[in-house]
Amino acid sequence: MSRGFYVGRFQPFHNGHQAVLERIACTADEIIIGIGSAQISHTVANPFTAGERVLMLTRSLEGLECPFYVIPLEDVQRNALWVAHVRSMAPPFDTVYTGNPLVAQLFTEAGVNVRSPEMHERLTHSGTVIRRRMLDGEPWEHLVPPAVVDVIREIHGVERLRQIARSD
Ligand code: ATP
Ligand code: MG
Repeated sequence: MSRGFYVGRFQPFHNGHQAVLERIACTADEIIIGIGSAQISHTVANPFTAGERVLMLTRSLEGLECPFYVIPLEDVQRNALWVAHVRSMAPPFDTVYTGNPLVAQLFTEAGVNVRSPEMHERLTHSGTVIRRRMLDGEPWEHLVPPAVVDVIREIHGVERLRQIARSD
């Protein structure tokens, strides 16, 4: 049984994340998805709560080829302890899939097998770009799965982001 681990902040979950997870689903038997910085919400860089991100992920991945588990992970303020923290919260896994150099380094040092999935149209498919588009009133809906559009509408996410970006 091979279980893969994938982590992101998913602010919001977008088509790049979806494409990578669909590819991993073909090679791993099960996937664990960690929602990083789970404790942060209502900031311009991290507008959505862990629970809202759980909704985005689980609804978008309904048709995924293999079973998956979504685990919110709060930050620990010590990178050297982060792998142990993840292991204490997640089901056991043998392979980490990440494009993030720090995440790759920390797991490699811990002796875990790390793979770097190919990026999916990274210039446009980035949380930073999508949040900026929401703030500027530009189209963003085509960059995320339909279920994410629904969740963000339901929670009035764009209005929230614009409100917290205003200066007092
Ligand atoms: P932000 O701009 O807010 O940092 P992000 O798009 O980088 O958002 P994260 O939530 O930081 O997304 O998730 C990081 C994980 O998702 C990393 O492993 C990263 O390599 C991967 N990832 C991000 N964008 C893409 C993409 N377009 N294609 C494939 N993987 C991606
Ligand atoms: Mg990122």
